Amino acid sequence: MKKLINNPLQVVPEMLEGLVALHPGLALLDGENVVVRADAGLGAQVALIAGGGAGHEPAHAGYVGPGLLSAAVSGDVFTSPSTDAVLAATRAVAGPAGVLLIVKNYTGDRLNFGLAAEIARADGIPAEMVIVDDDVALPTGDGTAGRRGIAGTVLIHKVAGAAAAAGLPLDAVKREAEAAIASLGTMGVALSPCTVPAAGEPGFTLGPDEIELGLGIHGEPGVRRTRIEPADALVTEIVTRILDDRGIGRGDRVALMVNNLGGTPTMELAIVARRAVALLAERGVAVERAWCGSFLTTLEMAGCSISLLRLDDERLARLDAPASAPAWVRGTGPAVVGRPRLPVAGVTAPRHDAGRAANERLIRVLGAVAEALRQAEPRLTTMDREVGDGDLGISLARGAAAILRELPDLEADPAAALRRLSLSLRRAVAGTSGPLYAMFLLRAAGSLAGAGPVPDAAAWARAFAAGCEGVMALGGARPGDRTMLDALVPAATALQSALRACVPWREALAGAVDAARAGAAGTATMAPRRGRSSYLGDRALGHVDPGAEAVAIWLAAVQHALSPTQA
Ligand code: ADP
Ligand code: MG
Repeated sequence: MKKLINNPLQVVPEMLEGLVALHPGLALLDGENVVVRADAGLGAQVALIAGGGAGHEPAHAGYVGPGLLSAAVSGDVFTSPSTDAVLAATRAVAGPAGVLLIVKNYTGDRLNFGLAAEIARADGIPAEMVIVDDDVALPTGDGTAGRRGIAGTVLIHKVAGAAAAAGLPLDAVKREAEAAIASLGTMGVALSPCTVPAAGEPGFTLGPDEIELGLGIHGEPGVRRTRIEPADALVTEIVTRILDDRGIGRGDRVALMVNNLGGTPTMELAIVARRAVALLAERGVAVERAWCGSFLTTLEMAGCSISLLRLDDERLARLDAPASAPAWVRGTGPAVVGRPRLPVAGVTAPRHDAGRAANERLIRVLGAVAEALRQAEPRLTTMDREVGDGDLGISLARGAAAILRELPDLEADPAAALRRLSLSLRRAVAGTSGPLYAMFLLRAAGSLAGAGPVPDAAAWARAFAAGCEGVMALGGARPGDRTMLDALVPAATALQSALRACVPWREALAGAVDAARAGAAGTATMAPRRGRSSYLGDRALGHVDPGAEAVAIWLAAVQHALSPTQA
């Protein structure tokens, strides 16, 4: 077990101490895992208390604050709090208006909160209880424990909290909470189990591509175990089930909550929300407010739950009413699908002489470069995985495809052609290489601009060197920093000095390729100072820099395309 904890038996008090330390509006009851509003500023309002086992953070203590809960009672992880803890919370916050206990439907919670309410009443404190049972994965209970209470409970806190803050009496707050519970449905899907700190091992196991649909928040079995499917299919199944179960359909208005079970990337939650919103729109259901995030979790379990709460104007106003608690955020919305997208300005480069027969040699060279980069994809991927993030092969293959797309109607003028390729690579190649190659080509194009329609070898060599300067100017690296420049700069230097020494251009080019290869090989003994591999420090030693290797690869392709046998 790897967890950021000190002692598995102290996770709950230490967690609550952390929460209270960060939020001046909260206080802990001495000797209890009970968080209360520090201001105790309820006046004549009905007090609200929720709680249950820990492990569902930010529920429930995260919802203590004005307009929401007056107190939250936490048990051990996935274990109901004791009757006395609930009673302590009740005595701490209940005034003459009494207290409403909001309980998720689990036997232990029902018993402990139920007994506490009974004792409080005997002591003269008006106390009522509502049971949230929003999990539509289960059949409604006939002689069974009934449906579980899961993430939708957070919305019940809010509705009841706003009703209490509005000054309603206890029975009215209770009625409103119960009406909301009847209009609420939730269902979850788990992608991985979670480990209770005191147990040290996952509560259940799931195969690598297995998921549990309709699982409870403590890992209780769900509707079925199945293979992972695309998110859209899973969301469709879950949302459809909630709609059918709650009788929600065309013309209805809802609040939507996409809740992280704990270990799901925010990216995936948004993908889930996207489908949920689209499906509800298809069904004619208006999503008036939406929440997407971690509201009632299950430790580090991967997966999510979706909740729908049917709304009318009054309930919507309850959700919108002011409230302030560590974990409460205002709902967004209304959600709209198919909003027109804003146009992007200035995305097309004017085509000066498109369609004219372009420089055939340049096209042959570019075709060869693209083909070489395409073939090198697996090798560059492996190399970048060793010292970077592994995307260089794919990035440059994308660049190759972009080059090939431009070839059919590339400008005949070399400067214009390189400018177009710069723009195209800028868009197609992400990461670090994209902008650097775009800069390389832009500067090279600038250098060629004055060289006329058929630049000579010296003009190409100057353009190459200008491109290298551009890469240095943009990226801040120098030769010796273990980057593509360790292949580019030696090649540029070799090319220019050979041409100055009147070496025939083909030989000069061959020399440049050799210099690039030697330069790339030399990076294996350089400590990285730029780019992602700089984080590796000495661990990069022994590996050739993939960006430098890529330069040697495409430059060799240039040479090959221009060799006499090809011409
Ligand atoms: P990343 O994935 O790290 O954003 P790429 O995979 O696109 O970058 O490119 C990695 C290559 O970029 C490196 O192998 C290196 O040759 C080159 N590189 C990184 N930083 C620089 C820089 N500042 N100047 C020139 N080249 C660089
Ligand atoms: Mg990379």
